[in-house]
Amino acid sequence: MTALAPAVAALLRGYPDFPEPGVLFQDLGPVYADPGTLAGLASAVAARYDGAFDAVVAIEARGFVLGAAVAQHAAKPLVLARKPGKLPGELHSVAYALEYGEAVLQTQKDAFAPGARVLLVDDVLATGGTLAAAGRLVELGGGRVAGYAVVVTIAALGGTRRLAGIPGFSVLTLP
Ligand code: AMP
Repeated sequence: MTALAPAVAALLRGYPDFPEPGVLFQDLGPVYADPGTLAGLASAVAARYDGAFDAVVAIEARGFVLGAAVAQHAAKPLVLARKPGKLPGELHSVAYALEYGEAVLQTQKDAFAPGARVLLVDDVLATGGTLAAAGRLVELGGGRVAGYAVVVTIAALGGTRRLAGIPGFSVLTLP
């Protein structure tokens, strides 16, 4: 939790049974729509990892917003981790399990300088499968995972435990 937690909690909207029954969808639209809160998030993430990362990986799609803001704030390169069919050129791919089914994330093979310390950025940490896959992409690309940053962690889904070996930053933790 951080000083920004009350602002994020006030703006966050939960939608039951979206996009499927049983999921309480955390909509960060109003958080990203508030310029002061988005700037504060970028500043807080950059400060948490001050001097300890060389690039940012932003995860499609809602991770792009905070990831771009963090990279801009810290004046670091931004790399996009995307779903299949979106990136051109030679790619690394990692498949991972979702709560229901499977997904794939990709990055371009030349996305990282050798040994680059890479910060993973997404909107929500649930089971941790997405951030773990992004971390694997960093390693396949010759980089090292410096840590991860999310706006919201859903504690009950176990992602924090799954990523236990990786430095983490989360603004707001929900039960
Ligand atoms: P996971 O891989 O289980 O940690 O899921 C995290 C990814 O799925 C993030 O990219 C989120 O955008 C999305 N996600 C998972 N659960 C939710 C949720 N309840 N509300 C909003 N986004 C979610």
